[in-house]
Amino acid sequence: MQPLLSVGALGGTIAMTSPVPDVGALPTLDAAELVRGVPQLAALAAVRHASICAKPSASITVDDVLNALRWARGQVDDGARGVVLTHGTDTLEETAYLLDLLWDRPEALVVTGAMRPADAPGTDAPANLLAAANTALAADARGRGALVVLNDEIHLAARVTKTSSTALDAFASPGFGPAGRILEQQVRFAAPAPPRPAPLPPPPPGPVDVALVEAPLADDGRVVRALLDAGFGALVVDGSGLGHTSAATAEVLAGAVSQGAVVAVSSRTTRGGTGRVTYGYVGSEMYLRGVGVLLAGELSGRKARLLLHVLLGAGVAGERLAQAFAERTRV
Ligand code: ASP
Repeated sequence: MQPLLSVGALGGTIAMTSPVPDVGALPTLDAAELVRGVPQLAALAAVRHASICAKPSASITVDDVLNALRWARGQVDDGARGVVLTHGTDTLEETAYLLDLLWDRPEALVVTGAMRPADAPGTDAPANLLAAANTALAADARGRGALVVLNDEIHLAARVTKTSSTALDAFASPGFGPAGRILEQQVRFAAPAPPRPAPLPPPPPGPVDVALVEAPLADDGRVVRALLDAGFGALVVDGSGLGHTSAATAEVLAGAVSQGAVVAVSSRTTRGGTGRVTYGYVGSEMYLRGVGVLLAGELSGRKARLLLHVLLGAGVAGERLAQAFAERTRV
C-alpha cells in the first residue's frame, strides 16, 4: 500500500502566477492545483492536500503558523507518513523555525517554496515540491523536526536562511552547509539526526510582542529607547560582530533589563554567532552579558525573536528563561 503524504499550502511564489499582464505575480493556485502540477507525486504516495491560507509570506502571522501546525498534527495523527507545507520564501525560515520549536511528532514536517512563480520560465516550483515530498516520506527524515527543502538541498530550520532575493540556490545554512541532499529522488543526510530540545507549547494567538532591531553604525540608542517607550517589554537587537552594540545603546539596554525588560542580542554576521568572553568594553558581549542581556549564540535575530515569543508565551521567566533560551542557541 502507498504511504500517505499530506501537502498544506500557505501561499508564496510557489502558488503564484501572473494571470493579468503587467500586474505582477499573485497567489492564484490552491493546494489541489499545486499537487496536480507534479504528477510524479502519484507514484510516491497517496496525497491529501489542504489550502491553509494564500498569502505572500511577509503577511503570514503566528496564527497562520499555528493553524498549519494544528493541521499538520492532525494529518500525522490520521496516518500521514510525512507533511509538506508550501510557503513564500521571504519569511520561510521563520515559519519553519517556529514550527520546529513546536513540532512534537517524529514525522518529518518539510517546508518548501519556490524562487520563480509557477508560470515563469524555468520555475523551480514542481521540483521543490517533489523534493520536499521525497524528504517528508524518507525514513531517515524522522526525528529531525521541521526541515526546509529547496533546490534539492535539505536544511535544518534553526540554521537555514534566504541568502539571495532571486537565485535558485537562495537557501543556505551559513557556517554549516545543508543537512542533506536529494539526488535522483533519493534522500541522503550527511549525519544521523542530532538531539533535539523538547518541543515547546504553542504561544497564545495574537501578535508578537518582541521587537527586533538592528544595531547599525553610529547608533545613539534612540531607536531602542523608542521601542521601550512604545511598550515593548522584550526586544532582540541584531548586534554587530560577536553580539555588540554602541555604548549608548548598551546603556539603554542595561537600564531596560534592570527595569524588568527582556533583551537578547544576536549577531548580524550570519556565521559564527555571538561570543561570550572575548571583548570587555561597554557594548561588548561581556558587558551585555554582565548586565543581564541574553546572547543568541548561533541563532539569527529573527529566530531569537520567535524563540523569546514562544518562551514568554509559555510563562517562562527569570533564570529559567535564560536557561531555556541558552539551550537553543547552539544550533
Ligand atoms: N514574495 C514571495 C513570498 O515570500 C517570495 C516567494 O515566495 O519566493 O511570498
